[in-house]
Amino acid sequence: MAKQKILIIEDERALQEVLSYNLEREGFEVSVAADGQDGIRKARSFEPDVILLDLMLPVIDGLEVCRQLRADVKTQRIRILMLTARSEEVDEIVGFNMGADDYVTKPFKIKPLIHRIKALLRREGVEKSSRDVVAVHGIQVDRVNHTATAQDELLDLTPTEFRLLWSLVRAPGRPFGRNELMDHCRGEDANALERTIDVHVRSLRQKLGLLGELIETVRGVGYRFRGESESKTTTPS
Ligand code: CA
Repeated sequence: MAKQKILIIEDERALQEVLSYNLEREGFEVSVAADGQDGIRKARSFEPDVILLDLMLPVIDGLEVCRQLRADVKTQRIRILMLTARSEEVDEIVGFNMGADDYVTKPFKIKPLIHRIKALLRREGVEKSSRDVVAVHGIQVDRVNHTATAQDELLDLTPTEFRLLWSLVRAPGRPFGRNELMDHCRGEDANALERTIDVHVRSLRQKLGLLGELIETVRGVGYRFRGESESKTTTPS
């Protein structure tokens, strides 16, 4: 069996060394990046199973790294364990739903950290499937088969509209800024967003028919998918 791979994105040299030494001893294949940009690059080329991601990083900080990894189909499934310096930062990670799978607060002990990594690796098989299909308010999006339905009718979406819908439905009630949605939608196709995000939203709403109302405009921010708490019915009135 191939070794499981761990990418350490951490700028503190001493910590890099302690982590790689211990993880290699545990039988993992380890790669290290010392800043956010290099980290994203290595996440793409090294294809790790788990990333240990420091929050405070040079060039691109940890939250932004996390966001970019989650927005890219090539890296979005990688398990991310955040390393944070202060416990207050945890609120930020959890509150902003940046897509980290777990976190540890510095200073941490190596043994419990390794347990957390192994737990993440075990969890993966189970969670992958549930993470790939989202069904809310009569809309179902399947990321693996790349299909979306509204009240069981198959939708004919452009790749950008598909990614847009996927981003919104998986976090009902959470407002997304236009720039954030642009990042989510860009994917591999850099030319996909010559039109503004508003144009894509308008088109997506049209294709959703009556359910298009579920994509709400958040004044001064952007858009959100109607939250659970605000609508109990499947069909908007
Ligand atoms: Ca740091």
